[in-house]
Amino acid sequence: MTVSLGIPVLPGRTPAGLPPRPAGARGLIDRYDREATDLRVSLTDRCNLRCTYCMPAEGLPALPRDQALSADEIVRLVGIAVRELGVRQVRFTGGEPLLRADLVDIITRCAALEPRPEISLTTNAIGLAERAETLRAAGLDRVNVSLDSLHAATFAQLTRRPFLERVLKGVDAAAAAGLGPIKINAVLLPGVNDHEAPELVAWALRNGHELRFIEQMPLDADHTWSRDSMITAADVHRLVGERFTLERAQEPRDGAPAERFVARGRAGDDLGLEGTVGIIASVTEPFCADCRRVRLTSEGSVRSCLFSHTETGLRDTLRAGADDQALADLWRDAMWAKPAGHGLDDPSFVQPARSMSAIGG
Ligand code: SAM
Ligand code: SF4
Repeated sequence: MTVSLGIPVLPGRTPAGLPPRPAGARGLIDRYDREATDLRVSLTDRCNLRCTYCMPAEGLPALPRDQALSADEIVRLVGIAVRELGVRQVRFTGGEPLLRADLVDIITRCAALEPRPEISLTTNAIGLAERAETLRAAGLDRVNVSLDSLHAATFAQLTRRPFLERVLKGVDAAAAAGLGPIKINAVLLPGVNDHEAPELVAWALRNGHELRFIEQMPLDADHTWSRDSMITAADVHRLVGERFTLERAQEPRDGAPAERFVARGRAGDDLGLEGTVGIIASVTEPFCADCRRVRLTSEGSVRSCLFSHTETGLRDTLRAGADDQALADLWRDAMWAKPAGHGLDDPSFVQPARSMSAIGG
């Protein structure tokens, strides 16, 4: 068994140099007293958009089909995660998860697992209008939709595709199908869509969605990210503050990546608008110490951190006939080796080889 990106990891063994994993620990614990209960499963590395902060214009070489996990394999691994490893939330992502033809089958079968996980989807919403009700009926609980601009030209500039209307229809259909509360993920880029921050807030509040601003992370395939030019959480406060007050929400954060604020319109048409806005400050205010996430890539590798340089492959062990216990142990070992933090602010930080679409955001 080898990881795709570096250090070899043997099934059922603690990687060299790490203290041994405590015997008898069932969940996905690590050396820093964290337990991962939130699983992100990438269903594909393919995508029908080319967001500039994620993919290159020409796309990325897609994983050969036989190397990607089948629906049976995904359901088997999610089953191990919820039965053996204490995972309670499963979020399907990608690439674009709606591109998976067997998505309804995967969700139906994951919703039948015991204990039943909470099931959500992170999507660009292209094609969601046609599938929202079927996905809801299959057992999907909620969707997060990525939407960075409400203007067709800016949307096309950012995503390199002219599909804004389809995304907006997808959001409406998801709300009508009961897939809420819908969270809208927005990445702001300087000089491109940062000026739209208050407009995005107003639109989200009017429609009953929770907008979350995500700081741009160095996970773009083009490697153009720069700490100096990114829009920070502090910038978001300044930009949104032009039209809305933001008051820190009272409820405990509870391991969530987003810090939540109650936004209230200051004047004019915004008066009376009120709702929650989140800020995910992964770069400037990292929340690694409370991280509860673990990722499974579309080829079946565990990534304990978005910024990992190592992965633990489960697929080949699974295909070789391993039982659930062996796979669970391999997974536990991968999590035990999770680093304390992503080290983005460390001068020695090196961007991972994989970009966001290939990891599963
Ligand atoms: N295609 C789906 C979508 O866009 O929602 C799911 C996959 S996408 C990789 C998941 C999330 O990652 C999106 O909300 C996207 O905005 C975010 N994302 C992608 N690249 C990013 C980056 N470099 N920094 C911060 N967020 C990023
Ligand atoms: Fe595709 Fe999502 Fe990446 Fe945009 S952010 S290119 S929609 S995977």
